[in-house]
Amino acid sequence: MELDFKKMNGLIPAIIQDDYTQKVLMLGFMNEEAYKKTVETGKVTFFSRTKNRLWTKGEESGNFLQVISIKADCDNDTLLIKVSPAGPVCHTGTDTCWGEENKQDIMFLKELQDFIDKRHEEMPEGSYTTSLFQSGVNKMAQKVGEEAVETVIEACNGTNERLIYEGSDLLYHLIVLLTSKGYRIEDLARELKERHSANWKKH
Ligand code: AMP
Ligand code: ZN
Ligand code: ZN
Ligand code: ZN
Repeated sequence: MELDFKKMNGLIPAIIQDDYTQKVLMLGFMNEEAYKKTVETGKVTFFSRTKNRLWTKGEESGNFLQVISIKADCDNDTLLIKVSPAGPVCHTGTDTCWGEENKQDIMFLKELQDFIDKRHEEMPEGSYTTSLFQSGVNKMAQKVGEEAVETVIEACNGTNERLIYEGSDLLYHLIVLLTSKGYRIEDLARELKERHSANWKKH
């Protein structure tokens, strides 16, 4: 990889992304030496402009960034480094330097399922989810049907934005229906996973 260190006083920016969650964790700068050390050790090393020396991320905190892959951009002046982080990346203690949680968005479905379970157990007054549970299975099933139709309409002649909105309505109401029957969204995931592995054996 022929990197263009000359453009910015011997430094190139390195975008650090979590290989698993795809979240951008931090940005640092590398000189040629830092880049070489990163490649050799498999741990991200920057050139710290404040310390004015090589800085292996995690050298004090132990939160090293294990390199999974390194890619240069179109004109070889910026790096995209995918890593597996050993812990929170920011010195303020947050997962990313932009204060975000380092989680895949898909994991929120599990949090939502847990929240809906809690509503089902506690049935607090004034909650829309509670009112759905109280309306009975036919009403809940009807809501799923309505939201499915709305999703279909958006898919056929609506905007993509509305498709996401109605698809989300559909998924939420489906989770509520499943929960009322003692199931969880993980039961769907398990079924799909089993079908997938069965198909793999067939083909
Ligand atoms: P560490 O490399 O995690 O052992 O942290 C050593 C020092 O580097 C900290 O005390 C901070 O001054 C600085 N530092 C660590 N992580 C970051 C970061 N993500 N962005 C900027 N500075 C950092
Ligand atoms: Zn570039
Ligand atoms: Zn930070
Ligand atoms: Zn809707």
